[in-house]
Amino acid sequence: MAYAVPLWSQPTVPVAGGDPFPVRRIYCVGRNYAAHAREMGADPDREPPFFFTKPADAVVADGGTVPYPPATSNLHHEIELVVAIGRGGRDIPVESALEHVYGYAVGLDMTRRDLQNAAKKEGKPWDMGKGFDHSAPCSAIRRAADIGHPAKGAVTLLVNGELRQKGDLSDLIWSVSETISYLSGLVELQPGDLIYTGTPEGVAAVTTGDRLEGAVEGVGTLTVTIG
Ligand code: MN
Repeated sequence: MAYAVPLWSQPTVPVAGGDPFPVRRIYCVGRNYAAHAREMGADPDREPPFFFTKPADAVVADGGTVPYPPATSNLHHEIELVVAIGRGGRDIPVESALEHVYGYAVGLDMTRRDLQNAAKKEGKPWDMGKGFDHSAPCSAIRRAADIGHPAKGAVTLLVNGELRQKGDLSDLIWSVSETISYLSGLVELQPGDLIYTGTPEGVAAVTTGDRLEGAVEGVGTLTVTIG
């Protein structure tokens, strides 16, 4: 097959003990922990889940470097549980949603907070605040067949060894099952999709040279450096 421009390589995320997971789309849930919704000035109680996206090639592997991005002076970390979809579907019922999960990973939803806040204020899209290059670090995926479906457990982020974010999966406003069900009513999910499920409170700025160490209990760890 010939193409008009050189074909790019398929973005992938490693799988612990398996073949690489090809990334099709990256969906992210906004404000999925009450304490984080409040720190962002929102009311967590009255809002259905909402979603934004990042490009598939925004993934950065564990141990990698996130180059400090252009056009920002307020780059934030958001540590999150990532769900890897193994079986597609639309209008997936909550009761069977976990059957669509291939596995789980630890992710960082890196955010140009100044651009996102300006967009919010002006009613403009979040894309350039959220979906920039290298904005989606992701650890190796652990298969649900191996670790099950974690519904509780600590979600933590250290910056240069200092604890910045701490939450628990049990505090998700919308559970993994509910998120999959809701999202699949908006778009058809496909194998290869990743869902970043939202971040607990404590988001803050990072600078060049910072070392970020994230963990989700029962899932794994993710370490990246800001370049
Ligand atoms: Mn997020």
